Amino acid sequence: MDLKIPYHLENFIGGNFIGPLSGEFLDGINPASGEVYYQIPNSNKKDIAIAVSAAQKAFASWSNTAAEQRFAILNKIAELIEQYADELALAETNDNGKPLWLSKAVDIKRAADNFRFFATGIMHFAGESHFTNDKNAVNYTLRQPIGVVGCISPWNLPLYLFTWKIAPALAAGNCVIAKPSEITPVTAFLLGKICKEAGLPDGVLNIVHGDGPNCGEAIIKHPDIKAISFTGSTRAGERIASIAAPMFKKLSLELGGKNPNIIFADCDWEKMMKETIRSSFSNQGQICLCGSRILIEKSIYEKFKSEFIARTKQLTVGDPLDEKSKQGAIVSKVHFEKIMNCIAIAKEEGGTILCGGNAIQLAGRCNTGYFIEPTIIENLGPDCKTNQEEIFGPVVTLQSFETEEAALQLANATNYGLACSIWTQDTGKANRMAIKVQSGIIWINCWLLRDLRTPFGGMKNSGVGREGGWEALRFFTETKNVCIQF
Ligand code: NAD
Repeated sequence: MDLKIPYHLENFIGGNFIGPLSGEFLDGINPASGEVYYQIPNSNKKDIAIAVSAAQKAFASWSNTAAEQRFAILNKIAELIEQYADELALAETNDNGKPLWLSKAVDIKRAADNFRFFATGIMHFAGESHFTNDKNAVNYTLRQPIGVVGCISPWNLPLYLFTWKIAPALAAGNCVIAKPSEITPVTAFLLGKICKEAGLPDGVLNIVHGDGPNCGEAIIKHPDIKAISFTGSTRAGERIASIAAPMFKKLSLELGGKNPNIIFADCDWEKMMKETIRSSFSNQGQICLCGSRILIEKSIYEKFKSEFIARTKQLTVGDPLDEKSKQGAIVSKVHFEKIMNCIAIAKEEGGTILCGGNAIQLAGRCNTGYFIEPTIIENLGPDCKTNQEEIFGPVVTLQSFETEEAALQLANATNYGLACSIWTQDTGKANRMAIKVQSGIIWINCWLLRDLRTPFGGMKNSGVGREGGWEALRFFTETKNVCIQF
C-alpha cells in the first residue's frame, strides 16, 4: 500500500479519493518549522451531501452484515495501522508537532487499539430481555444501527480520537461521515487508504476535510445525519448543540477541561512527582485530561514547588523528530499566540512566573516553529481568568490548601468537570474526595491510566454523554423495546 502523502489531500467518499467540489484548498502547516507542506480540501455542504448519499447507499448492506464480518474488517484495519505504524507516527508528528516517540508510543498504538477493542466488542454486544411474569409477557430490547452518523474530532490526539469515534460507529453497523481537524488531517487521510485496503465496503466510511464553520456545520445541519459524536472545544460544542438539539439528533459532546490535580502531604512522593510532570506537560499540555490547576497541601507546598520547578526545567523542548526532545511544538501559530496571550494575562492578574513563560526559538529546521517553555505560575486565586479558562498548553498554576474541604472547594471552583487526579495514601480520604469532586473521570494515585471499557466523559461544561465500552456502542445504536404477551 502506498502511504505517500500527496501535496493535495483528497476526501474519501464512496470508496474514492476525490478533490473538494469547490476546488478550494487550505494550507497544511508543519508546526515545528512553520512551513506549508500540503493542501487540505476546503469542503462544504456540497461535499457533505455527496458523502451522505454514498453512506445511505452503503447502509442497507453494512447494517445487515454479520458481527463476525464487521469484526474481521475492523480487526484488519487495526493490523494495518500496526503494520504502518512508523509511517503514521511520522505523519502525525509532522502535522501536530508532538515528539515522534510520543506519536509511536501513544497515538498510533491507541488508534489500532480502538479498532481492535470495538471489533471484538461488537461480537459480545447484546440487547436485554425482561420477563414480566405477572402479565405473561416477555420484552426484548433491540439495539439497532442508527443509519448515517457524524464524527468530528480535534487536533490534539488526531488519529487516536478520530478512530475512538469511528470504530464504535462502524462496529455498531452505521455508516459514517467523519471530519478530522483541519489543522491535523493527514493521518485521517491515510486512514482512508488503510480502510480501503482492509476491505471496508465503499461508502461505509466517508472522510471529508475542511474547517468547522463550512464543513463541520454542514455535517451537523444535514437532516439525514441522525447522530453526532463531537470532541473539541466547549465553545464549538455549544454552537453544535444549538443546531443539533432542535433537530432531535443524538448528541455526544466531549469538551474542554480545567482539571485539578490534588496533592496531599501523605502521597507517594516520587510517583506523584513523576506523574505530575507528565499530567502537566505531556503533548505540550495539549491533552484535555492534563491537570492544569495543581492544588497542594500547605505543609508540602514549598518542597513541592522547588522540586517541581527543578524537574520541569529538565524537560527538553526541541525538534519533535529528535528522540531526546521531551516537548515538541505547539500545534499552530494561532494556538501558540493564544497560549502566549494567556501567559500575559496571568502576569496582568498578578501571577508570578516561577519557570518558563517564554517562547523559544530553536536553531536549524525548527527556527520558525512554534515552541513554548513549560510554564509554572503561582500567586493566583481560584476566580481569576487563568484559573477559570482552559489554556490547553504547557502552563500550570499552583495553589495551596489546608483541609480536605478547602481542597474540594478549589477543585470544584470552575465550570468544567472533566478529569481530576488525587494523590494520597489514605484510601478513605481519596474516596471521600472522589465522590465529591465534580468530574466525570477521577484518577487516584495515577493519571491517564485508561481501560477502554470504562465510561469516558465530563460533567458541567466539559460535555454531555459518555464514550468508551458499551456506552459508545449504546450511543451508536437506536434502542427499541418489543413486548410480546403469550
Ligand atoms: P475545536 O472545537 O476548535 O475543533 C474541534 C473540531 O470541531 C474540528 O474538527 C473543527 O473543525 C470542528 N468544528 C469547529 N467548529 C465547528 C462547528 N461550528 N460545527 C462543526 N464542527 C466544528 O477544538 P480544537 O481546538 O480542535 O481542540 C481543542 C479542544 O478540544 C480543547 O478544548 C480540548 O479540551 C478539547 N478536547 C476534549 C476532549 C475530551 O475528550 N473531552 C479530548 C480532546 C480535546
